[in-house]
Amino acid sequence: MPSATPLSRSWSAEVTKRLLAWFGANARDLPWRLHYTPYEVWVSEIMLQQTQMLRVVDYFKRFMSRFPTLQSLAQADLEAVLCAWEGLGYYQRAKNLHKTARLLLAEYGGQLPTDQEKLEKLPGIGHYTAGAIAAIAFEQPTVGVDANGLRVLARLFDCCEDVRSSSGKICIERYARALLPEQRARDFNQALMEFGALICGRKLLCADCPLQDLCLAHAHGTESQRPVQMSSSLRQLRYSTAGVIIDGKRRLLLCQRPKQGIWANLWTLPEFEMAKSDDPTRCFCSLFARQTGLKLYALDWQTQLQHSYTKWQIVLQVRAFFLVSCVLSKPFVWFARSDLAKLPLPSPHRTVLDRFLTSQVGKTTY
Ligand code: SF4
Repeated sequence: MPSATPLSRSWSAEVTKRLLAWFGANARDLPWRLHYTPYEVWVSEIMLQQTQMLRVVDYFKRFMSRFPTLQSLAQADLEAVLCAWEGLGYYQRAKNLHKTARLLLAEYGGQLPTDQEKLEKLPGIGHYTAGAIAAIAFEQPTVGVDANGLRVLARLFDCCEDVRSSSGKICIERYARALLPEQRARDFNQALMEFGALICGRKLLCADCPLQDLCLAHAHGTESQRPVQMSSSLRQLRYSTAGVIIDGKRRLLLCQRPKQGIWANLWTLPEFEMAKSDDPTRCFCSLFARQTGLKLYALDWQTQLQHSYTKWQIVLQVRAFFLVSCVLSKPFVWFARSDLAKLPLPSPHRTVLDRFLTSQVGKTTY
């Protein structure tokens, strides 16, 4: 019914009807859509924050076979949870899952609360995630608009506000509420996200879109300008130097990060921040000697990689070193090669180690 007045109730009802019909015919088979248990919905929503759907699928299956219930997650060691999370990044999410599981077991009888307000008070569950869990797990009349859903709404309603601003966020939530049907909140929330992922994505498929004649941005020719977003500031560069340190007993030196800050509690190569103009090898040796009093001998292996963390782009220079066997105190610990798989390491450091282990120097020294 293309003649419905845009933004009228009949227009909204038609948009919702078509969205739900599209979802019914096109929803992807995803492991967390089999049973819709609150625990699975919660874990999937946390994993999906900042991570693409297809990447999450394998992690989700592995996580569920390792921690099939909220109780098993609560009773696990944090290190085991971090290990299962390794490679997904943003490890604070895993820590909050673990913390929340323990809290739910201790104070909520091992159950997730059903309403958005209570969910929002739990560690790691923000406003959007609470809305999504309440709708998808409990069929509550709430909305949880992720980046995909946001794109769809900004285009359907031709929203010219900056969607990162607080007024833009309020608008988007209002639009979502205007489309939310009285029943089927679960399907509606997922339909919005799925539609934004498959049809109304960064790459627009307007020609195949069942909402085309209802879409205001399409009518105004502004679809490629929506959503309006403040240009994200350029990432700032930081430089660091790290060492793959091996001793005569074919052990590797790692250190455990403090409980707070970047990669809290994870195991990493020893690493120091440096200036752009510093020589990475000299800088590493002198900072390591200052911290431990020990002298390193450079080996003939080095690598470099870049990774980003929040607003930082980090240029990491890595060198292999030999260190005479010795006893070192925390945070340093020696590990045999067979121990490495069991340790939670952030992706950039795991990548460096994989490069080293497959190198000639790595094979002969470790
Ligand atoms: S017509 Fe294009 S911009 Fe509008 S909802 Fe469909 S895919 Fe998105």
